[in-house]
Amino acid sequence: MALGTAMDWRGGLDAGDLSSESLARAAFDRIRAHDGVLRAILATDEARSLDLARRADVRLRAGERTPVLGLPVILKDNLHWSGLPLTCGSRVLEGYVAPYDATVVRRLLEAGAVPIAKANLDEFAMGSSGEYSAFGPARNPWDTSRVPGGSSSGSVVAVAAGYAPLALGSDTGGSVRLPASFCNVTALRPTYGVLSRHGLTAMASSLDQVGPIAATAADLALALGAMAGTDPLDSTSVDLPDRERLADLQALDLKGLRIGLPRECFADGLEPGVRDLLDNALRTLEGQGAELVEVSLPHTRYAIDTYYLLCTSEVSSNLSRFDGVRYGLRTPSAEGGLPAMIARTRDQGLGDEVKRRILLGTFCLSKGYYDAFYIKALKARALIAEDFRAAFAQADILASPVSPGTAFPFGAKTDDPLSMYLADVFTVPTALAGLPCLSMPAGFTGGLPAGIQLIGPALSDVRLLEAAHTFQSLTRHHLETPTLSA
Ligand code: GLN
Repeated sequence: MALGTAMDWRGGLDAGDLSSESLARAAFDRIRAHDGVLRAILATDEARSLDLARRADVRLRAGERTPVLGLPVILKDNLHWSGLPLTCGSRVLEGYVAPYDATVVRRLLEAGAVPIAKANLDEFAMGSSGEYSAFGPARNPWDTSRVPGGSSSGSVVAVAAGYAPLALGSDTGGSVRLPASFCNVTALRPTYGVLSRHGLTAMASSLDQVGPIAATAADLALALGAMAGTDPLDSTSVDLPDRERLADLQALDLKGLRIGLPRECFADGLEPGVRDLLDNALRTLEGQGAELVEVSLPHTRYAIDTYYLLCTSEVSSNLSRFDGVRYGLRTPSAEGGLPAMIARTRDQGLGDEVKRRILLGTFCLSKGYYDAFYIKALKARALIAEDFRAAFAQADILASPVSPGTAFPFGAKTDDPLSMYLADVFTVPTALAGLPCLSMPAGFTGGLPAGIQLIGPALSDVRLLEAAHTFQSLTRHHLETPTLSA
């Protein structure tokens, strides 16, 4: 079966030309054909997915018409789907089976979507390339010698390779946007709180958000509409305004829309090819009457430092639960009792990047350094958020690069953690500020895709998707798909 967007398939399902079961079968066929190379998938339960698809078909035949009914969806393997293993890309969870559904998964299931598989990721979502998965990295379908971007590597590859039209990832500091840029798909990081975090394994709780991934903004809107809404199980969850506009996303009139270009994001360090794609994209928007205005986000130069101090601090606390007692792996020790068992389990179960962050974060939170690092970083975070508030007085939305470059070859940054962290320079500021932002395809340079990022004020998610939809109704970059060798 040919690739299609969720909207195409929605039409086919509603007209009775397609069945959900046939879509699910096609998804498994594509996984079988391509995942030996692409390695996006960690687990499936085919019988169960097909059963869910048949149930969706019953609902369709009964005349139900709802946005995600019958559509296949792939889940990042840090989201709980009850009955399936949950690994978070780590050995430390070996043998752990999810005992419940994450709220976002439960809402998708209730709306009749059909989960197909759990997708590969950097261990506990820490990484920018996909290479920190304990199960080996997923590969970029545009060039399999290159990384797909991380940490939602498998979810993005699954959409780019047409396994399914929708996937869920998580974005703590860029993890749906960066791989979307590297693989030519569209991905949204909603306003913090718009999607429940219940059942998303915590990495850095004040930053983590679930993010939908698809070929188009209109497809993202279908998924977002099915999942958004407050959740008594997540006290930080909020209601999404204008949600009713998601089922049938309309283009915006761009006349007079002020698009802010943060000066700091267009300075040095951007690959020239990526810069050209951004300029073209901005000219397209300008051609429709949008007004480009320069804005400044002066404190974003501290964003990487701030993010990696706060993120690692929260990581050191959140990951203390993986101790060999409660979940997954347990490595007993002949001597030393419980403390030795915990130490051995963590030593053997956790990868180098995770250990590095636990060490850094524990250091930041330690008595002598708490004020100097952790509290200072919280203050910087407030200043970064304030910069955005000031920018939105001058502009309706902001546009920026997603990453300084395109997908890099495997191994290019693994020996230098700092250079890996720098891939996130344009994605972490919005995460620190809790703002909605998305990455969408802007074209190709040197045979590789690159995205453009749009950023909106808090809770303007729907309008942001409408802006992206408008761009996608003027361009065709998002319709380019990779040629896969079988
Ligand atoms: N690359 C960033 C990091 O390693 C972001 C990860 C994420 O968003 N989950 O922390």
